[in-house]
Amino acid sequence: MESYVETRLRELEAVCRRIGARVTHQRREVLRAVVSTDIHPDAQTILARVRERMPTISFDTVYRTLTFLEDHGLIQRVHVSGDRARFDGNNHAHHHFICTRCGRVVDFENEAFDDIALPPHIRALGTSLTTQLQVFGICMECNESKGGLDAQARGGEATHDGGRHPRG
Ligand SMILES: [Zn+2]
Ligand SMILES: [Zn+2]
Repeated sequence: MESYVETRLRELEAVCRRIGARVTHQRREVLRAVVSTDIHPDAQTILARVRERMPTISFDTVYRTLTFLEDHGLIQRVHVSGDRARFDGNNHAHHHFICTRCGRVVDFENEAFDDIALPPHIRALGTSLTTQLQVFGICMECNESKGGLDAQARGGEATHDGGRHPRG
């Protein structure tokens, strides 16, 4: 049976065929890096992943390729406020819980939200295609580690003060 990643690579081939573009190695590898994780990586993280297989690829190439994949509906860009853009390879209808502390983006599915009835003043704005909800909050892990949060916000150096213990 074909793996999920293979299925998504086939979609890339279909898109390229349709628009007359080449299925380049870099397009395949960038898509693979995005769809093989659910952490919604940013471009730098994707660059590091792709470099494991294509050590000389540049950030610009990765970024241009991400934009290409997004423009053709193969991935989506997630805007996490005050953060770099994140990329999402999940092509099923889904919504996001976004932690404003650690930047974690978690997918969740909910059919009621998928088919939510839009009020007239929103329908008047134009034809809607999909509805995607973004819930901003504090994830459970951040909730439970309140003690460490301030330290992390200051750069993570406050946890060990390395106090000197004179010997002797
Ligand atoms: Zn968090
Ligand atoms: Zn997602």
